[in-house]
Amino acid sequence: MRGKTYTLGDLSGSSIEYFRLIRNIADRYLEKYPDENTLLILLRDGGSRRSLFQRFFGSDNNLKDLSRSLSEYLSKYTTDTAKHLSDLSVTDRFDSIITTKEKEYHLNMLEIEVANRVNRGPFRESEYKMALMAHCLRDFRDYCQSEPGDIEYLCKHCEKECFVHLGSMILEKYSIKPYISATMDHKTLFTGLKKQHPSLGALGIACIPQLVQGMRLCDKLDIPSVGVPLDVNRCAMWLGWTGEAWFNLEELEYLLG
Ligand code: SF4
Repeated sequence: MRGKTYTLGDLSGSSIEYFRLIRNIADRYLEKYPDENTLLILLRDGGSRRSLFQRFFGSDNNLKDLSRSLSEYLSKYTTDTAKHLSDLSVTDRFDSIITTKEKEYHLNMLEIEVANRVNRGPFRESEYKMALMAHCLRDFRDYCQSEPGDIEYLCKHCEKECFVHLGSMILEKYSIKPYISATMDHKTLFTGLKKQHPSLGALGIACIPQLVQGMRLCDKLDIPSVGVPLDVNRCAMWLGWTGEAWFNLEELEYLLG
């Protein structure tokens, strides 16, 4: 089973190789950009404002190198992106998530790793910590017993193999309240939560473009956020039907440990 545009690993947890690689790449680039925050700002410019990114690329050889080497190492995970983009309908072309280009995936991958390094400490120190897990982790299970909770859906633990159940067990061990993300209006959700819990930390488990979008939103709302990308993007938005999705449980433990 492959993701629609990217595949980090299979259900056996083979994506751990990807996570080792992205950490090595981040280490290497932090030798050129010793300040993690500076690198994060450049990656966010590059991943969100293409014209500004190109201006940077036109004047900064380090960033030229970064783009080139990212694609060299990471394109093996995004081999399905070009076909997906060429098959898009005219209306799909206005959606910023599903039109993500291959080079943007590579920048997004490094951005998640660097943002995790920047935010891990403040996230851990937050008094109230919550997690949003992508709904596609349960959508293909038509017997799912999850129910609406105080802010989002809550897992009822009906299936021991389900990644929502497995992820929830790890999150609860670290005193993080797990939810299934069903609401699309994350700005309203996080703004309300921040009022309720001024010391709020958020953890996301979602496909790469949506995770990056959520982490940038949290940054704007002064909420320290960390995240684990899904190993594959296979929800109905990508496939047109609901496929099985998963993430690397070992990586979640690594992030929280
Ligand atoms: S374990 Fe939770 S998320 Fe998974 S199918 Fe059951 S209720 Fe739904």
